[in-house]
Amino acid sequence: MNHPMPDFEPTQAAHWHGFTQMSDFDPLVIQSADGCWLTTVDGRRLFDGVSSLWCNVHGHRHPVLDAAIREQLDRVAHITTLGMCCETTERLARRLVEITPGDLAHVFFSCDGSSAVEAAIKMAFQYWQQRDDPRPQKTNYLALGAAYHGDTTGSVSLGGIKYFHQLFAPILFSPIRGPIPCTYRLPPGVGLDGAVEYYANEIELLLKEHHASLAAVVMEPLVQGAAGMITHPPGLLHRVRQLCDQYEVLLICDEVATGFGRTGRLFACDHESVTPDILCLGKGLTGGYLPMAATVARPHVFDAFLAPVQASKQFFHGHTYGGNPLAAAVALASLDLLCNSSLIDQVNAKGDRLRSRLSDLMDHPHVGSIRGRGLMVGIELVSERDRHTPFDPALQLGRHVCQRARENGVWIRPLSDVIILMPPLVASDEELDMLADVAISSIQTALDSIGDTADALVTGG
Ligand SMILES: *Cc1c(COP(=O)(O)O)cnc(C)c1O
Repeated sequence: MNHPMPDFEPTQAAHWHGFTQMSDFDPLVIQSADGCWLTTVDGRRLFDGVSSLWCNVHGHRHPVLDAAIREQLDRVAHITTLGMCCETTERLARRLVEITPGDLAHVFFSCDGSSAVEAAIKMAFQYWQQRDDPRPQKTNYLALGAAYHGDTTGSVSLGGIKYFHQLFAPILFSPIRGPIPCTYRLPPGVGLDGAVEYYANEIELLLKEHHASLAAVVMEPLVQGAAGMITHPPGLLHRVRQLCDQYEVLLICDEVATGFGRTGRLFACDHESVTPDILCLGKGLTGGYLPMAATVARPHVFDAFLAPVQASKQFFHGHTYGGNPLAAAVALASLDLLCNSSLIDQVNAKGDRLRSRLSDLMDHPHVGSIRGRGLMVGIELVSERDRHTPFDPALQLGRHVCQRARENGVWIRPLSDVIILMPPLVASDEELDMLADVAISSIQTALDSIGDTADALVTGG
């Protein structure tokens, strides 16, 4: 392959990349981008099939977004939100209050999704400690199996993905662990029809036992992204909302991945008319331009923090760059584009188009499921389709598929053996077809090339 940096020596890597084995790093250096396409320093063009890690909405170098940042730059790039504010950030807060579900009304700004979750964890805790009728014993959380809420220590504690979280177990707190509400791997004897009931009952049993010690249930609504696009049975979110009310536990919805049109509605919660007590937003908030995240609370949560100054009830949390005006300016511009167009209405049709083009793959004996909502698509490769058996991780199949795709002009990143397709929402029909076609051919080539090894592993040879 044509290396843009032929003299790259891993031992000299000045830039230590996340989730990347630096001894085996094949650097791909991007010089520029426009629309849904990235251009490398050696002039190759790659389709951005995962929206630069799930955050790009309108494509790269969108003139309206570029202009919004330039305009804000002529006023001020950054001020603190500790004790002062900036008009642009105030406007964004009001805008988020308007568009987020129900009576969510108070926006706390941070810089990345993990921090938005971290703020939610502390907010829920502090709420129960100091509300009018305090419940100081409510100090734990219920999180779902295979959850992913970020990489800071608190958000990792909530997480339930083996590779990301088990390693750090000695330094984490231990939430109550709920089921993985998966519609692909259903428990024995449970059909798709009964899945909502089943998972809701599992969650209810845990709430019955632990509600007195629980500050909040935390979940990714509808689709658990990093777990491999685990798609929940419709109606589950609504049931969890009811259960949280019944057992007096706050509901924290982490829409860092699902927010801003990804699932075909502005927020995933909108599909089931659910208002969480605390909503976490990130990734798509600035259209994929600048780091910004938000934790949005309902009035009853916020009100518990109001008191005379001497009472020391203010939220004890804050970030240097929280509410950054440049990020706020581009977030406002991105929301205008999103809300004043039919873009979100097209997401379902685009997702359907992508999935139907991929459906040829369902004949393949090693394709287990094609799932997701809207423009969140996961294709799971399995060694035995009937039993949903995964491939041996040592085969690194997902990685091989994505290498093939890269050779064919598409940038995608797998989650184990789940191939993730998450293009910018503005991707055209032609681009979606191309993405699907490259995914299909890359999956076929990769499966063919490991065919013998895989068969040997399956038969225990
Ligand atoms: C990506 C993600 C996060 C973490 O966001 P960062 O900006 O990477 O810190 C949290 N929750 C969910 C659901 C995510 O997909």
